[in-house]
Amino acid sequence: MIWGGGAMLLVAAAAPAGPSTEPEAPAAVVIATSRGTRAVPVSTERGHPALPADELSILLPMSTRWGVDGWITVDFGGQAFRFLLNAPIFEFRNRIIHVVGGAYMHRDSLFVPLQWLAEYVPRTFREAYRYDPLAARFEEVGMTPVASRVSQPPSSGSFGAAVEDAPAAARSLGLKRKHRVVVDAGHGGGDSGTLGGNLVEKNLALAISSLLQEELERRGIEAVLTRTTDVLIPWSRRAPRCRDDCDLFVSIHVNALERAPGYRNIGGLETYFFDYRRQNAPDRLEQRENSSLRYQPQEDRISDDPVTTILSDLEENEYMRESAQLADLVREYAGRAHPNGSRKVVQRNFQVLRWATRPAILVETGYSTNRRDAEFLSSREGRRRLARGIADGIVQYLLRYETMTNQ
Ligand SMILES: [Zn+2]
Repeated sequence: MIWGGGAMLLVAAAAPAGPSTEPEAPAAVVIATSRGTRAVPVSTERGHPALPADELSILLPMSTRWGVDGWITVDFGGQAFRFLLNAPIFEFRNRIIHVVGGAYMHRDSLFVPLQWLAEYVPRTFREAYRYDPLAARFEEVGMTPVASRVSQPPSSGSFGAAVEDAPAAARSLGLKRKHRVVVDAGHGGGDSGTLGGNLVEKNLALAISSLLQEELERRGIEAVLTRTTDVLIPWSRRAPRCRDDCDLFVSIHVNALERAPGYRNIGGLETYFFDYRRQNAPDRLEQRENSSLRYQPQEDRISDDPVTTILSDLEENEYMRESAQLADLVREYAGRAHPNGSRKVVQRNFQVLRWATRPAILVETGYSTNRRDAEFLSSREGRRRLARGIADGIVQYLLRYETMTNQ
């Protein structure tokens, strides 16, 4: 797993002893994001709980700018919150917000009120962050397995971000604008892909891709298929369908293993993104997925020209991080729907992803050589559950992407 995961640091929110009848402040707030987890100590020296801004900015998309006349701007996720030092107010979107206690300087550090982080940030980025007062935990949505959260309507807070373009279904998920996704059904025509029992990869890939298109459209996301029939599309004409107005590319596949001791025991879903820098010899899976090279037109074959290589490398690196995050979220959400769960996100040199100019992943939805996977993939209900899981993972990615880019 590339992002998040690992053991979560759990810190008991011990409250300081005192005669106050006010709700007691936690000793620390746990910040849990895909970049890591850390406990940030709460200060109460000014009579209200506050947090050191520099420690928050280690894990959160946050920075501070000094203004004039005692104002300081805290940029969070592209939104500007202006605090007047030592006053119980801040300004946001031309409105003055009153809080119990304000921001202040202490020993050269800026402290921001816990109330701001706990109430106003989750209200502003309602599908990206939440605060749990009982656990004193501020976390990215999707960090904890709450599968139903994605279908909850957004709360109607006064800080709701402006919703303009997104269709109603997308708005109900918290998406602020229209999104477009290209879904690629792997293989096709003379290229059957893998075979396991009576399961043929190209047919399953098309069936799953069609359901994924439906599930994305139900979520208000425009979804385009690279193929709708049993035809072979060259690699070079798959990922490039996702261009400037397209958010991401997802290629759907089914894995199978060759006969070897225990090969039927291997199952589960995997997600991959492209790492052009990976110089190792191709492994079995790469060879198999890339073996449709013989079906590709000559101009699609890989160039060894160093200039082409460098340009491609730079382009790929631009979306490496996004692709990794997308791969991890799809793995997490689709893995929950899968009888054999999911396996780790891996960087691979799949040729279909090499042509991507936007964030792109490849999903191996399971192993047709594994009995549970085969039963799951060959049932329409199984494929439907899988498509829902992949769509939910994509929605989670788009929500984060909107928050980080403020689009
Ligand atoms: Zn394949």
